[in-house]
Parts: sequence; C-alpha cells; structure tokens
Amino acid sequence: MNVYDGQRIAAMLEKHDFEQTDKIEEADIIILNTCAVREKATNKVFSALGRVRRAKKPDALFGIVGCVAREAGATAFQRIPDLNFVLGPQSYHKLPEILKNPETKLLNIDLTGLEKFDELPRMEKSPAVAYIPIQEGCNHCCTYCIVPYTRGRELSRPFKEVLHDTKHAANTGAIEICFLGQNVNGYKYTDEAKGKTYRLSDLIKETAKLNNIKRIRFTSSYPTEMTDDLIDMFRTEPKLLPFLNMPIQSGSQNVLTRMNRPYTLNLYIDIVDKLKSARPDIQISSDFIVGFPGETDSDFEQTMEIAKRIKYINSYSFKYSPRPHTAAALMKDQIPESIKAERLAKLDSYLNELQRSFNESCIGKTMECLCEGPDKTGKHLVYRTPYMQQCIVNATSPNCEKQLANIRITAANKASLRGEIVD
Ligand code: SAH
Repeated sequence: MNVYDGQRIAAMLEKHDFEQTDKIEEADIIILNTCAVREKATNKVFSALGRVRRAKKPDALFGIVGCVAREAGATAFQRIPDLNFVLGPQSYHKLPEILKNPETKLLNIDLTGLEKFDELPRMEKSPAVAYIPIQEGCNHCCTYCIVPYTRGRELSRPFKEVLHDTKHAANTGAIEICFLGQNVNGYKYTDEAKGKTYRLSDLIKETAKLNNIKRIRFTSSYPTEMTDDLIDMFRTEPKLLPFLNMPIQSGSQNVLTRMNRPYTLNLYIDIVDKLKSARPDIQISSDFIVGFPGETDSDFEQTMEIAKRIKYINSYSFKYSPRPHTAAALMKDQIPESIKAERLAKLDSYLNELQRSFNESCIGKTMECLCEGPDKTGKHLVYRTPYMQQCIVNATSPNCEKQLANIRITAANKASLRGEIVD
C-alpha cells in the first residue's frame, strides 16, 4: 500500500516539474511516507525527520504523509517545529497546497474516503508490477490494530474505476497486477444502476482477459472472506499465481478471540484444504503476532503447531506492540519484552526452516519468473518466482532482456534461489 501511495505522490510531483533524487542535500521537497502499525516504525519516523532536518537545504520543504501523520497530527509540529506538512493516508493529494503556500504549515489528516483516487494523476508509465488498491480502510477492528483509526472504515472502489486503472497499467507496461487492500478479499462494490454486486473474483476474471497481463495476485486476505467464488479462481484462472498471503496471527483459539479475529482454527484449516484442492501447487504465507496480552506458553505452542500444520513458505512475524486507539493496549497481562523476544526468536527460527525447506524443494524445477532488473553489483538479474521468491540469475545469460522467462532453479538458501534461463 505504501509503495503504491509513494508512486502516486511521485507522479503528482512530476506533474509539478519535480524530479526524483536520492540525495537529501539536493532535494527541494522531502517526504517521509510512514507506517504506524508498530511503535518502532513510528519512532523511527521522528528520528529520521531529525536527520533530514540537519541534512536538507535550508529552504527545502519537508514533512510526513501516511499513517504516522494521521496518528501524530498537530503534535508532529510540536516535536519538529520547522516541519512544513503533515498529511494523512487519505489526504496526501493535498500536497500541492504547500507548494502554493510554502510559508504556511499544512495539516490535513481527514479521512476523505476515496477522494485521493479521483484527484491524483495517473502514472504515465507503469512498472512491470502494478499495485492497484481496490479498497481503503478496514472494518475488522482487530483489537491490536491501528489501521481502522489511521485509514478509516472500509470502502471498496467502484468496479469500473479499478478496471480502468488495471487497463491503463496493462497498456503502459504492466505484466503483473497486484490488487491491494487491508482486507482485499472482502472487496464488494454494488453498482446500483445495474443492481449488481462485484467481488474480487470479478476483478480477477476481467483482468485475466487483458493480453499484456500475465500474472495476477492480491494481498492481504482475511480468512473468513475467502469465499468459494474466489477459491474457485485458483482452479480456473491460470494467471492467478499459486501463492496467497492469509494471515492467521495466532494458533490459539483464546488469543484469536481476544484479538477479535472470530474464526476457528478448523475453519482456517478447511479453507487451506479447499485452496489446495482447487490448486494443488498453492502455497500460503502468514503474518504472526507473538506476545499478545495474556498469551500463555501453551497459546504460543499452538502458534508453533499451526505453522507446522500449514507449512507456511514465507511469513512475517512481529512482537505485539501496544498502539494508541486500540483495545488491546488497555488489556491486562501485557507480556514482558523478554518473553516476547524469546517467543519471536523461536517462531522465526522455525519459519526460516520452513522457508529454507520450501526453497530447497524448488531445486531442479523450472518456473516462469518476472524480471525485476539488475542487482546492486550489476552482475546479476533479480527475478521473482510465482511464489514471490527472489531468484538470482547471471546477467550474462541469453534472453535476459525478456521480462518473463522460464528459469531452472539450480541452488537455494533461506533467503533466495539461484537459477538459469531455459530457452
Ligand atoms: N490488514 C493488513 C494489516 C496491516 S498490518 C494485513 O492483513 O496485512 C500488517 C501486519 O502487522 C498484521 O497482519 C499483523 O501481523 C501486524 N500487526 C498489526 N498490528 C500490530 C501490533 N499492534 N503489534 C504487532 N504487530 C502488528
């Protein structure tokens, strides 16, 4: 989501004759696009702002956009008095106002719904992977999560508009479409005039008809929104990649209830089984939170067990971080930092093992992969497999200019694969 927001902000500034630079000391405007999901990320923003402040040209404008801006609001100006703008995730399209009036302080953290999608200019050229947000906000209200506060209630974008963006991306260079939403599989848009309700499966069907688009995926999915029409897409639509991020968060029923994630483990397992019967080569990834208030050793062991049962191939795991405006921050039995750290280390080490073993199981296989470009050394090309694994190929390989290539996997470790192009 933040990658997409960053691209739209860059496109907007290009329309105002700005060009991108990675040198702070040369920049005329510096924007930190921020995430407030965990406390550490929020703290980092303010230390980074301090560094920017010292390094920038004296008259350069600087500010924050995104969820930390929404969370901090006017207090950001108290912490960093010479900050020029603070714009929330639904109001960053107001940025040009500061260009018109650089002497003022611009604060806008309103939840303006889908307005930004109408106001912002489209990117003229799409990257090979086009991120297309199909909704804003979230209605699930997990007790640990700040997103409903920072990004507001869930709103699905009109079906026609999303398809318009998808077609535009396909016509300007996209090969892969990644639909985005906090609860992406809950996408639901009713066209009152037609009396028809569209779901994510409808978006996938229409997108798959575009010749230039070869790969489709979506993130991030909420387990109970994984409806049969969507599961069926994995059976019938070969362009849909066989990889799904479906966060479980915890393997303990008690913890899930207190997280306000009201699904049973059996239901989650049933959904995975249905997905596997629709698409036998599908692999799942998850997000986990350890050390949620009240989590016992036995709750944590159940998280280890579910990881073993599902065999996630790549996951994100976090120590629970109390966030403002959330119910869990007020719960008793907050877990000490040392126990959170111990549990995270244990879970991470097991998840890494699962990842390594899946990566190793790919050796000898040939997969169609998408080229992301050269690595830092310039000696290799970096590709993405259908499972989002990174695969490194010698740049001297023939046909390396092709964006999609069949690659035979020759070696693997935890983090990445090595491969060679097959003609
Ligand atoms: N709906 C999005 C949520 C974005 S946050 C999604 O499903 O991806 C991404 C992940 O951050 C969540 O899945 C959760 O595992 C983690 N997270 C959210 N709030 C957290 C908190 N307070 N402490 C630790 N991790 C958190």
